Amino acid sequence: MVFIRVSTPLLFGAIAAFFDITSAAAVHKPRTASSCKISPTDAAWPSESDWAALNTTVSGRLIKVVPLASVCYESELDYDAEKCTYVTDNWMSASLHVSDPASIMAPLFSNNTCLPTSDPTASCTQGFYPSYSINVTDYTHVQAGINFARKNNIRLVVKNTGHDFLGKSTARGALSLWTHNLKDVTFYDSYSEPLLGYKGTAAKVGAGIEVQEAYAKANAEGVMFVGGEQKTVGFIGGYIQGGGHSPLSSKYGMAADQVLAMEVVTADGVYRKVGPLTNPDLFWALRGGGGGTFAVVISMTVRTWKDIPVTTLPLTFNSSNYENFWKAMIAFHEVLPNMADKGIYTYYMTSNTSLSCIPIFAPDMTVSQVNGLLSSFYKTLDTLGVTYNATATQYKGFYDAWYYSFGPEPAGLQSGTISRLVPRKVLEKNTEGVMSYLQDLTNTGLTAVGFSIQPEYKAGALMSLNAVNPAWRQNGLHVISGYIVPAGSTPAEVEALRDYWVTEHLSKIQEITPGAGAYLSEAAYNEPNFQQSFYGSHYPGLYVVKKLRDPNSVLYAHTGVGSEDWVETDGILCEA
Ligand SMILES: Cc1cc2nc3c(=O)[nH]c(=O)nc-3n(C[C@H](O)[C@H](O)[C@H](O)COP(=O)(O)OP(=O)(O)OC[C@H]3O[C@@H](n4cnc5c(N)ncnc54)[C@H](O)[C@@H]3O)c2cc1C
Repeated sequence: MVFIRVSTPLLFGAIAAFFDITSAAAVHKPRTASSCKISPTDAAWPSESDWAALNTTVSGRLIKVVPLASVCYESELDYDAEKCTYVTDNWMSASLHVSDPASIMAPLFSNNTCLPTSDPTASCTQGFYPSYSINVTDYTHVQAGINFARKNNIRLVVKNTGHDFLGKSTARGALSLWTHNLKDVTFYDSYSEPLLGYKGTAAKVGAGIEVQEAYAKANAEGVMFVGGEQKTVGFIGGYIQGGGHSPLSSKYGMAADQVLAMEVVTADGVYRKVGPLTNPDLFWALRGGGGGTFAVVISMTVRTWKDIPVTTLPLTFNSSNYENFWKAMIAFHEVLPNMADKGIYTYYMTSNTSLSCIPIFAPDMTVSQVNGLLSSFYKTLDTLGVTYNATATQYKGFYDAWYYSFGPEPAGLQSGTISRLVPRKVLEKNTEGVMSYLQDLTNTGLTAVGFSIQPEYKAGALMSLNAVNPAWRQNGLHVISGYIVPAGSTPAEVEALRDYWVTEHLSKIQEITPGAGAYLSEAAYNEPNFQQSFYGSHYPGLYVVKKLRDPNSVLYAHTGVGSEDWVETDGILCEA
């Protein structure tokens, strides 16, 4: 394979030549004395008639946001004990939050306001939920929302599914663009983009499509998408814009590597087509540089792959002998890079005595091929007396393999995350060091999650010429861990807990992986030096795109590109 190495500044220099900056320069922000975004308690907050006018512009699709669990509170207009029971029973189900205009999976980011309660006399406040939301069904609604937020200097967020780990799809007093109902999908038997060296099948996918919808539609067409593992996570929202790892990534690359074209609305309210020659800076940045930052995406056209058989193996092993379990862990991690070389994705969860693969997912491989790759590892387990279960199944196509492998993951959790993209070189040369980090985590009682994914440039050099964190191209193991935030923690206690996990634990893997990074969509809220960690050498170029396309930060995302120019205090956003 031929790799084209292009540095970010060079790449940006090339694309900037095509870029019309006059439109971006024409964006003006009404400034307040304090240079903060206007919030509902400010005198400058838009009047009822301003909101009514916006509602008319978007054909009645403006929604006054009410927290989902307000039905549990007597003080609220929509109090309804029966509905409260429903919301309470389903609070941990992602679908409940996906289908609400403003609810999110992680209530920590709504400031834990208005949770389901059995005490109807308790009080429910708006917390960090947006004030209004537009139920977007076409790009003109996005234009209206962006123009309104920009002219009134209020916060704007985009909510697709609300799955974001860092709460980037909610904000106090914001106008939210709810993209969930942008559901159009069109498949093409023949699509050509010579500048990316691509000719083949493709699909144009609306920004509101969830993974489960995308996969079902692709299955009906006999093709596959490179998408995420979880059913209700979005496909074209934060997932693909942040890079997007997939059960198919070790074979075909990142989800962002599959993008051929886009439709977006930029911060100046202009609808734009985006591709390698049209608005190329956005084409580069929106493929890996993060959601909610550069523009609002309406659709993306992505390549599709012909369906293939997949073997899955939900391997488990465990031992009450701690020492032998960790010898087995070392042996397992020694075979993972070789398996990923063959296109295999492995997603596991481990304690300090037991590991379960959600599956080992092996596209285009048979059961005997997969077991063959693991045969020496099985022998090691036998020698160590470590118990294991290894029953593989071959499926005719991707859809069934995916459907039967990945169960639902709960919403509504009070938790925080730390993660690292451990380079393959480190995994191979210092396997014991990486295992000692996993021991450190799991000895605290936590479950550690590992993804053996090597996306490298497997989509081809031209398709991979994007803003995906360069740390992904070197990746051997994406290690994540989630810690519990005790109920009732104050904001100061949450901050202290976040600091503790970064300082006492994350720092240990950072020490043995100098210069590596973390995946912006599944990382610590307080990631140190997030610019380097989430974006690597692309950061300077991404910052220039942000400043040119959205000079007044109509769009802001915590740890997003350019977010260091702002300070958020109690949900109020002010210039730093
Ligand atoms: C259970 C679970 C499983 C996951 N599995 C995977 C996985 O397999 N692979 C992987 O790579 N990641 C995975 N993730 C992480 C996932 O990629 C991120 O949470 C991602 O941000 C979700 O995007 P969303 O659009 O669904 O969520 P949202 O919370 O709605 O949006 C996330 C961010 O993107 C922005 N955004 C959304 N839509 C648009 C748009 N149209 N235009 C501009 N900005 C937009 C939002 O403003 C926000 O900043 C998983 C997360 C969870 C919770």
